[in-house]
Amino acid sequence: MTERLYYNDSYLSDFRARVMDASPDRTRVYLDRTAFYPASGGQPFDVGKLGGVDVIEVVDEEGRIAHVLGAALAQEEVAGVIDWRRRFDHMQQHTGQHLLSAVLLDLFDAATVSFHLGAESSTVDVSRALEAEQIRAAERRANEIVFENRPVGVSYRHSSEDLGLRKATEREGEVRIVAIQDLDRSACGGTHVRATGEIGPILIRKLDRIRGNLRIEFLCGLRAVARARADFDALSAVARTFSAPLDDAPLLVETQREKLLETERAHRKLATELAQARGREWYTGTTPGVGGIRRVERRIPTLSDDVRAEAQSFVAGAKAVFLAIGEEPPAILLAASADSGVHAGNLLKSALASAGGRGGGSAGMAQGSVPDKSALAAVVKALEST
Ligand SMILES: [Zn+2]
Repeated sequence: MTERLYYNDSYLSDFRARVMDASPDRTRVYLDRTAFYPASGGQPFDVGKLGGVDVIEVVDEEGRIAHVLGAALAQEEVAGVIDWRRRFDHMQQHTGQHLLSAVLLDLFDAATVSFHLGAESSTVDVSRALEAEQIRAAERRANEIVFENRPVGVSYRHSSEDLGLRKATEREGEVRIVAIQDLDRSACGGTHVRATGEIGPILIRKLDRIRGNLRIEFLCGLRAVARARADFDALSAVARTFSAPLDDAPLLVETQREKLLETERAHRKLATELAQARGREWYTGTTPGVGGIRRVERRIPTLSDDVRAEAQSFVAGAKAVFLAIGEEPPAILLAASADSGVHAGNLLKSALASAGGRGGGSAGMAQGSVPDKSALAAVVKALEST
């Protein structure tokens, strides 16, 4: 059994201990006592140094705690020191979770079903959906309780007693209870701050519906401050592009987006009109050939809607056949007027089939694609010879 020093003093960051057991290469060691918290109950493990060697992972093996090291540990008597910044941050997020979960239950009967403390942010999953207004109310209430600086205490009770817990525990025997004064009692083996003021600001962010639950992302302490700073910087950058005050930025972005859509629609309309005019121009500028048919062949980089509009406009005239050849990707468009004697769909389909291409269409308009340039040349040749 490893004595868990963090159970009774979450603020202990350095300690001395004796090595009780170790792996043959002495990179996995077991101590008689430790302040290193192992990954457990949603809270990540501590890192730090043991006898000057990096502790890279801490694993709870029920009775014993394994310290996974970056190198072999030579000593039998060691000094341990945990990375306090990381640990204190975990204590803030973890205590913040107790507080937030209690507030969500009190205000909206939203019970916490799971908790995850991540490297960037943390989440609680609650059993019911909440409105944005309710989330804001919970965030406000949680921060008020932070300002009240209520004591957070640890006590031990037997599971047979009436424990008055927020969430029933399945633990038998001695139960470690973490309590926030007049708010919350939870069975928990994690590390917590000693008063709610030390949690610092609590900021709720993203909400996600996950399998019938609501996942609430939240940040406490310096994480909340850092995030608010990053949000400010991002919003400032947006506001600067409009030379506008910060608070006007969201409305300006929305207005600009609508304007852009409007402009795109107008642009599309003009491009189509231009293509149609070009089609008419090609038609009048083309001398009728055999059988009075006007034929035009256009080579263009890529087939587009504009080319279709141009083709449609061209074959709106009498006795007209329009062929467009797109280079990249290799593709063909064939259009024919009803009185041209050409069935564009059938003609293109047979030309494509012999070149390994795909496509088809109606009597008036057909389109197809081929695998490569030589297939394209073969299709064009077949079409030109008919
Ligand atoms: Zn806890």
